[in-house]
Amino acid sequence: MPLADKTHLRIPGPTPIPPRVQWAMNQPMIGHRSGECSRLVVENSRRLQPVFGTDQPVLIVTGSGTSALEAAVVNAVAPGEEAAVVVTGAFGDRFAKIVTRYGITLRRLDIPWSEACQPEVLAEFLQQHPQVKAVFLTYCETSTGVLNPIRELARTVHQHSDALVIVDGVSCLGAVDCRMDEWGVDIMVTGSQKALMLPPGLAFIAVSDRAWEVIERNPRSRFYLDLIAYRDNLTKQTTPYTPAVSLLFGLKEVLNLIQEEGFSAIVARHRLMMEMSRAGIRALGLELLAPDAFASPTVTAVKGGGQLDVEAFRKELRQIGVVVAGGQQHLKGKIFRIGHMGYCDPLDVLTVFNAIELALFRLGVPVELGSAVKACEEVWANVSRTHHGSAQ
Ligand SMILES: *Cc1c(COP(=O)(O)O)cnc(C)c1O
Repeated sequence: MPLADKTHLRIPGPTPIPPRVQWAMNQPMIGHRSGECSRLVVENSRRLQPVFGTDQPVLIVTGSGTSALEAAVVNAVAPGEEAAVVVTGAFGDRFAKIVTRYGITLRRLDIPWSEACQPEVLAEFLQQHPQVKAVFLTYCETSTGVLNPIRELARTVHQHSDALVIVDGVSCLGAVDCRMDEWGVDIMVTGSQKALMLPPGLAFIAVSDRAWEVIERNPRSRFYLDLIAYRDNLTKQTTPYTPAVSLLFGLKEVLNLIQEEGFSAIVARHRLMMEMSRAGIRALGLELLAPDAFASPTVTAVKGGGQLDVEAFRKELRQIGVVVAGGQQHLKGKIFRIGHMGYCDPLDVLTVFNAIELALFRLGVPVELGSAVKACEEVWANVSRTHHGSAQ
């Protein structure tokens, strides 16, 4: 049995919290209109800009990631307008549900769950739906471990329409390259509990000038999620309502950690963890859900079936002390997903594969102990040799 308080949480969010961040969140409470809180809000917002790749202020909303998805919908699209939603998995599907709930005409582009949306496919879809006012995309589709090519998709949208490009970056921002301004993304959103190493409770949203014009004209009534209120209050160095102050303390420490490691090193670390995970899975003779070309650096989905009962396997892993996620919707019971984002390093990936081998062995699946760990280590070793110990 694992030690009571030593579970290796390797699901694609919430993710483990670095000790320094945990400590920072224990600070005594401060008033949300105090000068200290103002500095926290303003500095956190500014220091998040490189994570988004934007010069726009990053708005901080207290709410889960879905609150940011909903904020994007209610602010950017008016009732009765048309919006396209590209659905590559469960989170694209969530965008589609929100859009429908708010009286927007949904133009839904379904892509098989395991594939990325290709620019040509989106281009053809947009030609069939010239009235769409916004195109909703998912950067990392957490349910399948697919990273959609946002740069190319944003370019495609701009070539074929005036629609806003709205992107859910919840499960990858902070771990992958994001150049919102350069790529022409109009609204980018993320949440606190995935690659940003915080507890759940904060959502972050950046908005282009073009999108602000649309938002200002949008007659739809809204209150808590009115982004204009967040923008106007930020210029006054505050938030419209009481923010999750403790998480703001934590966020400051997260941004310190990001600064110390360096963003390109962080991106390289996540790529390495992805490569290690994929090599480990292959060494075990298991099948990866997403193809290499669109694999996400933050989450790896693996197919069950044959000799592998996914739910029994996850239970066995939990006994050993590692928690991985199952599948969502129709992939429930068919896949498992390893989260490797945020406060996770190559050594943690080795630990996960140690446990995976042991769990498979205990379940009677033919496996050569050490084979996956060896494959993971070889990936890591080759990177270290060619680059003097640092990832990349
Ligand atoms: C986790 C996640 C969300 C938000 O989920 P919440 O539970 O509301 O925080 C949205 N999109 C993606 C891609 C996610 O992975």
